[in-house]
Amino acid sequence: MAKKIVAGNWKMNTNLQEGVALAEGVNNALKGFKANCDVIIAVPFTHLASINAVIDQNLLGLGAENCADKKSGAYTGEVSASMVASTGAKYVILGHSERRQYYGETSETLKEKVALALANGLTPIFCIGEVLEQRENGTYLDVVKDQVESALFNLSAEDFGKIILAYEPVWAIGTGKTATADQAQEMHAHIRGLIAAKYGQSVADNCSILYGGSCKPTNAAELFAKKDVDGGLIGGASLDVESFMGIVKAF
Ligand code: PEP
Repeated sequence: MAKKIVAGNWKMNTNLQEGVALAEGVNNALKGFKANCDVIIAVPFTHLASINAVIDQNLLGLGAENCADKKSGAYTGEVSASMVASTGAKYVILGHSERRQYYGETSETLKEKVALALANGLTPIFCIGEVLEQRENGTYLDVVKDQVESALFNLSAEDFGKIILAYEPVWAIGTGKTATADQAQEMHAHIRGLIAAKYGQSVADNCSILYGGSCKPTNAAELFAKKDVDGGLIGGASLDVESFMGIVKAF
């Protein structure tokens, strides 16, 4: 059975002090409450070490939102997977649509990032998803198939088993427009089918496939009730303790 997970993606929000306070707020809310899922926050690089110092990662996992596609060296401004791991972070979001769209990330660079994340003991939360035009012209299943195959199907079954996937239809991210639970289920079942065909049913059944895109306390339960939806990757609603916890409690 795939692990149930709710992960926050803070994006480029909060300064250090605000971020530490928000992380403490989520951590405190999780104390004395038995969440029925793993809870993770992915935060800006600058916040990682300070947040690691104030949270209990048994309650709240910590991750970065990206890492470099190079190991180390003359790459000014980049942050390597090994640097991320050295902060105490355990996860890293890779291939978010905002990285693909604004920073030109391709399957080739993402393959390198995945390999470096795994080599440094980080769990990638790997994002895939179609844009509105692809949803409307009916190519969305093929688009996502290509994203999964081209960046991840070079992995061994053992390494693939370490990846968390997040299906995030780009037209639903930050737009207030959520995929219906049936649209999410159709895609998640499709992705699980691809994994089963490549790595076998048990790897597919154990792979957590999260939904992301305007997920809120009001729609989370309906999405999470679907057979192949193992949780959520949450942007906007993860910036407020109450709304993030409202989604955690949907499990
Ligand atoms: C995201 O950025 O991963 C996301 C799902 O954003 P939002 O929840 O704000 O749509």
